[in-house]
Amino acid sequence: MDNCIFCKIIKGEIPSKKFYEDDLMIIIADVNPRAKKHYLAIPKKHYKYFSEMTVGDAANLAKCISKIAELAPSLGLENGYRVIVNQGDDAVQTVPHLHIHLLGGQKLGIGGFTVDE
Ligand code: 5GP
Ligand code: ZN
Repeated sequence: MDNCIFCKIIKGEIPSKKFYEDDLMIIIADVNPRAKKHYLAIPKKHYKYFSEMTVGDAANLAKCISKIAELAPSLGLENGYRVIVNQGDDAVQTVPHLHIHLLGGQKLGIGGFTVDE
C-alpha cells in the first residue's frame, strides 16, 4: 500500500528502531510507548483486519505469534507481556495495517489501553 506508514517502515523508507526481522514480520519499538517496553510486531503483508486474512495469512500470523513467544525473553518481556490488536474504529485503530502491540517491562494496570467514558 502506497500510503501506509507501516509498509514504508517495512521497506525502510521511514526509520524505526527495529528489534527483529524475518520474511514474515518486523518487530519495532512503538514511537509513543504506553509501557516501559512497547513493541509493534507487524506482519509484512498489508491488510487491516483479521476478517481479511486468507488461510495462508492466518498460518503466517500463527508463525509470527510463535516467534514472538520465542523472542519475548530477549525483548525484556520475560516476566510477561500484554498483547493488543486494535481492530477498527471502536478500538481506535489508527494505522490500517494489522499489527500486534506487545506491552511489558513493568507491572501493567488491569486495563490495556484506556477507556473513555
Ligand atoms: P493502533 O492505534 O493502530 O493500534 O496503533 C498504532 C501504533 O503505531 C500507535 O501506538 C503509534 O504510537 C504507533 N506509530 C504510529 N506511527 C508510527 C511510526 O512512524 N513509527 C513507530 N515506531 N510507531 C508508530
Ligand atoms: Zn501497510
